[in-house]
Amino acid sequence: GPRAPKSVHSESVKVVLRCRPLNNKEITSRYENSTQVELYDETFRPLVDSVLQGFNGTIFAYGQTGTGKTYTMEGVRDDPELRGIIPRSFDHIFGHIEQSENCQYLVRASYLEIYQEEIRDLLHKDQHQRLELKERPDTGTYVKDLSSFVCKSVKEIEHVMSVGNSNRSVGATNMNEHSSRSHAIFLVTVECSERGADGEDHIRVGKLNMVDLAGSERQAKTGATGERLKEATKINLSLSALGNIISALVDGKSSHIPYRDSKLTRLFQDSLGGNAKTVMVANIGPASYNYDETLSTLRYANRAK
Ligand code: ADP
Ligand code: MG
Repeated sequence: GPRAPKSVHSESVKVVLRCRPLNNKEITSRYENSTQVELYDETFRPLVDSVLQGFNGTIFAYGQTGTGKTYTMEGVRDDPELRGIIPRSFDHIFGHIEQSENCQYLVRASYLEIYQEEIRDLLHKDQHQRLELKERPDTGTYVKDLSSFVCKSVKEIEHVMSVGNSNRSVGATNMNEHSSRSHAIFLVTVECSERGADGEDHIRVGKLNMVDLAGSERQAKTGATGERLKEATKINLSLSALGNIISALVDGKSSHIPYRDSKLTRLFQDSLGGNAKTVMVANIGPASYNYDETLSTLRYANRAK
């Protein structure tokens, strides 16, 4: 008689996910298609406002390479509509400062990169130098010898960003590949000195950390060996350490927050949890061949919500 199929069990239930494209009505109503300005106003403006009030805030762009992390963080800087979060935060911060009457503001910017668990100062002349993370009881974790530039205008801070971006590609044979394997971190410190009713000056300091994370794709699965595999393991380690911290903070039950597991999470120890605000943007691609990575990004985001 006929032979039974070999894998009855694995074939007995199948689930297929199918997403139809947006129809005309959905397209004209602009569903699921946020502009840069909408995203900023709805999601990031409150966080940057709190930095101007003296709190710490961190923004992460997470996702597979090619899904829009850099578009989200940086966008097209010289196009007013397409500017991303970082340049919009510059406009926001300096716009606020111009209007404020009681505060003396000081804005400083730093730009660094974590690649293979090594920290590189993107604003330093010597791009071979590697920096160390240190701890101080009063101010917490900091990067020793990290340069920081005082910026007095949007133009000045944008210049700092351009310098850092051009250093990012120094030594990178393939910029796309390099950016998919390293975390780029733009730091803005906003200090405000205000004369209180007691006649004394009070200083408030808010830190804004804006992070374009390394690509979240499973690089180990792609058959990487040697250096590549080592690299991939480090990336996955720091991204999963970040995920663990965020879910521990969200769930609120764990007494132990595992900050020490990676450089990335140590660096943000005082900017995650407590009074600090954090926003993670999870970027996904629309095409079906991204299915596995999209699912894994959604799972990651789900832990953090
Ligand atoms: P990643 O930094 O995650 O590798 P990119 O930001 O470089 O990805 O985005 C990949 C490509 O997709 C770029 O050409 C970018 O301009 C485009 N892109 C990404 N997000 C959007 C978006 N929301 N709208 C329009 N184009 C986008
Ligand atoms: Mg990128």
